[in-house]
Amino acid sequence: MVRYYLYQIEQTKHLNAFLEVFEEEALAKAHALDTRIKNGEPVGALAGVVIGIKDVICYKGHKVSAASRILEGFTSMYSATAVERLLAEDAVIIGNLNCDEFAMGSTNENSAYGPVLNALDNSRVPGGSSGGSAVAVQADLCMVSLGSDTGGSVRQPADFCGIVGLKPTYGRISRYGLIAYASSFDQIGIFGRNIADVAMVLQTIAGPDGYDSTASREEVPDYQERHNKSWKIAYLKDALFHPGLDEEMKEGYVSFFKQLEAAGDAVTAADFAYLDYVVPAYYVLTTAEASSNLSRFDGVKYGHRTPLKNLELADFYKKSRSEGFGKEVKRRILLGTFVLSAGYYDAYFTKAQQVRRLVVDKLSEILSQYDAIIMPTVPSTAFKIGEKADDPIAMYLADIYTVLANLAGVPAISVPLQRHSNGMPYGVQIITKQFSEANLLSIADHVMQLRKVTPV
Ligand code: GLN
Repeated sequence: MVRYYLYQIEQTKHLNAFLEVFEEEALAKAHALDTRIKNGEPVGALAGVVIGIKDVICYKGHKVSAASRILEGFTSMYSATAVERLLAEDAVIIGNLNCDEFAMGSTNENSAYGPVLNALDNSRVPGGSSGGSAVAVQADLCMVSLGSDTGGSVRQPADFCGIVGLKPTYGRISRYGLIAYASSFDQIGIFGRNIADVAMVLQTIAGPDGYDSTASREEVPDYQERHNKSWKIAYLKDALFHPGLDEEMKEGYVSFFKQLEAAGDAVTAADFAYLDYVVPAYYVLTTAEASSNLSRFDGVKYGHRTPLKNLELADFYKKSRSEGFGKEVKRRILLGTFVLSAGYYDAYFTKAQQVRRLVVDKLSEILSQYDAIIMPTVPSTAFKIGEKADDPIAMYLADIYTVLANLAGVPAISVPLQRHSNGMPYGVQIITKQFSEANLLSIADHVMQLRKVTPV
């Protein structure tokens, strides 16, 4: 399997999905596993499973850069808990994957190492920020991959690439060893071609962790068992009839809801009046958290340091940071610093927190009445490369359907639904209440069986 994937990776270098391939190491690991199996020795649950990881997840002894110049040449000193758990079950990690710098973006165009191309149409983006992780699964360069999802970075690229992308409940998977973007939103997520693979990886990496106090102690149930029942599902009118949603996709969702009803599920409309506030609230809160998290990259402790000599300390910091960070990351640090500044704190930061509270309450009200909320993942199919690069507001607004689950900390998944007449795939997003991944995966499996969509 490792040889097969190495061959596949070699054939698709132009996609720019991998930042580094751990060729020798992966082969050696596979060889050692083969020997153990031949000798009748026990192997882990993920023996032979070939996995790629996003370049924001630490793997001891391997480079990690968050696709940023500021961390160029930096090597992880320890492994993320998620990585430790994969290795403990004998998974083979084949390489690390390109992404937007510090996971900030929706197209993978913000990487210091160049954009990733959508394998279905090379003139289009794969989505972001976990673009490399999505394309690695889309183009069959590994079996499953890890990404991170702060505002949609797993679900949105999964949607654009025609595969499955899961963002678990906030705190379900330890964030230890995940480079922080916005700590109260960040969650490791999983890409796969089917629900069984995603469930298997979640089973392995979920659960409490002494290294991350925000990792939940909630028991990890069996994610591989499927629950079959008639589901009570709500769709949000405000999402379905939003003017930003592509017309053809809207019709696709309407007929999909009818199909669910024909299959015995109850699909009911619910109101959610805050949809137009979620993107502003998300960008105020995440940039505020980012401005704090990214202050550690100062040119002293690690990463890029300006080569200029004889600078005053403050100038040294400024130079190192100005040289190391890319344009979008700088924009967000500036915005985050602004919304936290004394004169504007209440007007922006406090206000956004109030919006977050309203969103949490309203979503939990809906989710106490229904098994799941179902809605689009993204308002359109994959953008053309460069299409939104000069218009950050238009880019941010396309996150309208995904940031909701991060604001509320609830689990959400995107599963492929069908192809658009433009040839690109699009998916549907399912959201359930906190720590109900078992139901979420069951509903997602039900949808995939109903649609008979073979992932790209
Ligand atoms: N597109 C969103 C952003 O740019 C999501 C990023 C993410 O989930 N890491 O912030």
